[in-house]
Amino acid sequence: MSTYRGRFAPSPTGPLHAGSLVAALASWLDARAHGGQWLVRIEDVDGPRCPPGMDTLILGQLAALGLLPDEPPLWQSRRGDRYQAGLDRLIASGHAYGCACTRAEIAAAIGPRAKHGELVYPGTCRQGTHGRPVRAWRLRVHGRVDWEDRRLGPQSQDLEAEVGDFVLKRADGLWAYQLAVVIDDAEAGITDVVRGEDLADNTPRQIALQRCLGLPTPRYLHTPLVLAADGHKLSKQNGAAALDLGDPPARLREAAAHLGLHLHTCEPLAEAVPQWRAATMPAFTHLKDFP
Ligand code: GLU
Repeated sequence: MSTYRGRFAPSPTGPLHAGSLVAALASWLDARAHGGQWLVRIEDVDGPRCPPGMDTLILGQLAALGLLPDEPPLWQSRRGDRYQAGLDRLIASGHAYGCACTRAEIAAAIGPRAKHGELVYPGTCRQGTHGRPVRAWRLRVHGRVDWEDRRLGPQSQDLEAEVGDFVLKRADGLWAYQLAVVIDDAEAGITDVVRGEDLADNTPRQIALQRCLGLPTPRYLHTPLVLAADGHKLSKQNGAAALDLGDPPARLREAAAHLGLHLHTCEPLAEAVPQWRAATMPAFTHLKDFP
């Protein structure tokens, strides 16, 4: 029996759209092509950004498309105790530290050199907060992370210079995505992360966390993004329409076409699995032919 376990992890900030369906379909196909399990996790860790009922709507959209998880979905909002246990371990091992700085203080300390939409933390509280109250918790990072993406090939990021000590628990008490995703993937036994390319530059942070927690690193495959008319990634912010589910096979064929598959039947999922297998299996670690 295959040990493969994959997942789709939508943030329920809006309904599934053409872009998120590509990631959902790719993760489902990769699991099926490997004879593995496919799970769904609702990433509602940032509660204020998740309208009530959006989780149910997304699960209904997936079901209408025939993308059915092999186990009951998980909700991150119910897993705070697991994230706290992870943070406690990181504090005990000296990998995490409390930070007293406000955003304005960090910006003033480093000037306008923001990277990745975030300020690279200058390490002010690495040696302690000097009596100031702890606002957030950060991971102490070192050097560079090299990793391999199944489609993008060898990747490298200087975590220390480009990202800096990143937040695990925010000043407002919310858990950071990076910690939640690493704990959840490990506890679910995820062997393969298949998700949109916009998340590729989060991967080194997640690998650094896995190493600090002594957790295995899954294989990664980042799928091509669907771009909006403005050239940016299709998202709820630039007007991505919720999927029209009047014709699920048509939506699946469109998403599959974006992954380089050519489907013609009214049973696109069954048709897509052997095509995906043929495209990905010969060179499991490289998918250079994919768009
Ligand atoms: N929740 C993230 C999103 O919807 C995906 C996280 C992941 O797949 O690791 O963009």
